[in-house]
Amino acid sequence: MCGMAGGEYVTRAVRFTLDPTPAQQRMLRSYCGAARFGFNWALGRVKDNLAVRAVEREAGVDEDALTPSISWSKYSLRKQFNAEKADVAPWWSEVAKHCFDTGIIQAADALRNWSDAKHGRRRGHMGFPSFRSKRRPMQSVSFVELNHQLSWLNESRHAVRLMLPQALVQSKDQRVRAKARLLAWVHTVESTRRLYRLVEDGRATIQKVTFSHRGGRWHVSFQVRHRAAHAPTPKPGRKLGDVVGVDMGIKHLATVSQPVPGVSDDDGHVANPKVLAEQLRRLRRLDRRIARSQTGSKNRARLLQRRARLHGQIANTRALHLHALANTLAGGFDIVGIEDLNVKGMSHKKRRLGRHLADASLAELRRLLTYKTADHGHRLVVVDRFYPSSKTCSTCGAVKAKLPLHARTFDCEHCDAHVDRDVNAAHNIAREAVRLHGSTSHEDVAGLRPETVNADSRLCQTDQGDLAATAV
Ligand SMILES: [Zn+2]
Repeated sequence: MCGMAGGEYVTRAVRFTLDPTPAQQRMLRSYCGAARFGFNWALGRVKDNLAVRAVEREAGVDEDALTPSISWSKYSLRKQFNAEKADVAPWWSEVAKHCFDTGIIQAADALRNWSDAKHGRRRGHMGFPSFRSKRRPMQSVSFVELNHQLSWLNESRHAVRLMLPQALVQSKDQRVRAKARLLAWVHTVESTRRLYRLVEDGRATIQKVTFSHRGGRWHVSFQVRHRAAHAPTPKPGRKLGDVVGVDMGIKHLATVSQPVPGVSDDDGHVANPKVLAEQLRRLRRLDRRIARSQTGSKNRARLLQRRARLHGQIANTRALHLHALANTLAGGFDIVGIEDLNVKGMSHKKRRLGRHLADASLAELRRLLTYKTADHGHRLVVVDRFYPSSKTCSTCGAVKAKLPLHARTFDCEHCDAHVDRDVNAAHNIAREAVRLHGSTSHEDVAGLRPETVNADSRLCQTDQGDLAATAV
């Protein structure tokens, strides 16, 4: 369906830290603002339409005499926006035209997800999308027009193209054009040479380019798709075993079903990096100070900025350790089993910071393992979120009805096993991974189903989805 007939495509994100000039920073900020504007405009349109129809219904207007419902598809929302932009955003030519699209597409997706959840086409409960605030910790803008793949990078190896506003591109004024040339390339901290090569040789295609501001810094992220076989040659992995199960935790970064020298202790626990613990302590202290500070004050603004930077540092620390973990596991085992997202998060109403981090780690580890296992020709198996990995006895298979969250060991009533809770879960995940891998099926084996494919499958579905997504 996605043109993947021949095989194993992998989508991965390649990220660079940017070093924009102040003028480029201003431009990027206004681009993100335009993306937010597009999102809020689309959502506002739909909300108004729903509200008008609700009022009319209340007033007893006949169903077929109601104000017609507007389409929620991104195509028609975009068309509508283009028709209205001169009125609603008279400054539209001061940003690249794709900026608005980012927000409109995201709004259309959010609306469709909500409608899918409401009609049972999607698991879980979901609130109606809400307007986006300027104060969201992460601001971003994406570009998906990618006809000229190489135009995003240049041979200087340290630059990424920034799409320019219509007003600058089309100006006849020499001075304006000179200014445009200065703005068009953003310096990258790392070299982009490897990506340039892959794209140049046609071994990889860029699908999306996202600029984002997070943790006090600007980044660019390329969503790149390539054949798994064409992946950059992996370092040969050290064979460690056939299968490993991974349980992500709070107390430990992760627990693996069999000890891995250099990575875990003898029980299989992979320790949280010490730096992370210190950073988290600082974060909690900072949060308390922010809570006490006065809304709107200079001091508060300063503290918020500091918190954003700290968040960035925490993400980096975690990413570094997860990379190392994913490299070892993907290279060393034929099958790596992990849980689906949100297994434990769902049982918790109130999410604590630690829980939130564990979920984010799991998502990141999964993303990394997806392409790293594919690079090695190994398999990543994602165990269904409804599989009771912590409540099942890994020795005899008996399932407990309840296991309180504070219980650190699993004590089986049937077979007398006393195992560390996380070790028990990791063993179960490994066993379930083997079962799924043996018994099936594309669906459960994420190495076959190119996974970051979340992005991919969304691209595939949109055509159908949009037709179906007209109103509620
Ligand atoms: Zn047992």
